[in-house]
Amino acid sequence: MAFQLQDHADLDVREVAEGFEGKGLEEVLGWTWERFGRRAQIGTSYQGSGLVIIDHARRMGLNFPVFTVDTGILFPETYELRDRLEDFFGIEIQQLRPEQTVAEQRVEYGGDLWETNPDTCCTLRKVLPLQRHLAGIDVWITGLRRNQSETRERTGILELYLFDKLREQHILKLNPMAAWSREAVWEYIRERGIPYNALHDRGYRSIGCWPCTKLSGGEGERAGRWEGFEKTECGIHTFLGSNI
Ligand code: SF4
Repeated sequence: MAFQLQDHADLDVREVAEGFEGKGLEEVLGWTWERFGRRAQIGTSYQGSGLVIIDHARRMGLNFPVFTVDTGILFPETYELRDRLEDFFGIEIQQLRPEQTVAEQRVEYGGDLWETNPDTCCTLRKVLPLQRHLAGIDVWITGLRRNQSETRERTGILELYLFDKLREQHILKLNPMAAWSREAVWEYIRERGIPYNALHDRGYRSIGCWPCTKLSGGEGERAGRWEGFEKTECGIHTFLGSNI
């Protein structure tokens, strides 16, 4: 289960988060491993910054488990990348899957939900599988960066959330890439020869499910996602509400 506050009564999250500002990835990941071990896990959608975290962790010998949400509607290039990354890092990436297949969902909702109600589609195919998984860990390590979008610009390096009000369970979110720029991420990936999604070379900026990811002339880092809808987040980084 996620944890109760008394299990970490000595931990002042705000103080630690402030202390992490300006520190290198090695120091932040080292602290997390020492304190939480494999109860801290890296979540990735194979975008650049998550790969930088995995690479640092592997080089430091920190065996954080790695997981991803497989909606079943990803690009073939993304599935191919997953295989290449498992080979490159020598790891197995745990796949979290929705309860329904795409075909079952289509029957229940009478069509393609991403065309009529993408919020519900994201909840069923992304948020719920993630929520089930997070209930079993203490720290969710993400590749969120502040300059990805307006909604992410206040991201802290370490954040505490109430996960389950009824059971008073909490979870920490570690965002060690918060201060990194897109340029720094890509410079690192190229320097280290880390495999990346072939779609980036075809002009895609942020890559999610194929029905909701378009080539876009837009400026933002997440341009091309859910075009035609007032939607900028799938919900996995907002369902926890505000941090404490
Ligand atoms: S990104 Fe699109 S296809 Fe994927 S879960 Fe969300 S609405 Fe459904």
